[in-house]
Amino acid sequence: MKKANKNTARLRQPQQKQWRLSFPEDEIKYQWLPLLLDAYAIIDKGVASAISKAEESRKVKLACREGCSECCTTHADIPVYPLELFAIYWYCTEKLTPSATDTLLPRLSSFGKGDQCPFLLNKSCSIHPIRPVACRQFNVFGSPCAPGEDPYYTRRHDVMVPIQGYVNQAFLVMLPFYGINDDLAKKEAIKNNFIHTQARSLKEHKWSGLIKAMKDSL
Ligand code: SF4
Ligand code: SF4
Repeated sequence: MKKANKNTARLRQPQQKQWRLSFPEDEIKYQWLPLLLDAYAIIDKGVASAISKAEESRKVKLACREGCSECCTTHADIPVYPLELFAIYWYCTEKLTPSATDTLLPRLSSFGKGDQCPFLLNKSCSIHPIRPVACRQFNVFGSPCAPGEDPYYTRRHDVMVPIQGYVNQAFLVMLPFYGINDDLAKKEAIKNNFIHTQARSLKEHKWSGLIKAMKDSL
């Protein structure tokens, strides 16, 4: 789930905040986008911290590498939140290169139950900058996943455990998208795992709306 494709090179690199991607014009146009980019920056920072702590304390090395994408083909369930779906629609209609769009459209059109993630193109995540939290957090130590292996079931001890404080902070940042704005309500929402109740399955999502939007954007 880790390899970026050429689209990543089109991104403006963050200047001030090391972890945050920046799309200034789009962030003015779409008020939900800064919430997601802020949240992803926190998630990514938490992932880096969890990896480095595990490598240090357990004397293991991260197996995930660029070009390694077995996890994108084997995972049956990839949770995705409504805010993340907004981002996927935006990215696919406004940020993909024409050639990525040409490749992705038939993938989405023929996508069916049990297929691998439709956004995996040529062993590369076509939506890498805005890939879901679940993909960002799935990291494995030791050896790379074998074909067909889901290490969550075969060797869970090698799967990175996210640091909950970062996850909670990232979800807190997302809450205004769901109309939760005051501090007390936010605290309650985190305590009650509100964001998790919003999760959908990426593999079960109907992509017909996205296909139409992508075609309209050509
Ligand atoms: S090692 Fe496994 S989890 Fe990591 S990128 Fe490769 S296939 Fe994905
Ligand atoms: S969105 Fe799909 S292709 Fe991208 S990292 Fe997640 S599972 Fe892999």
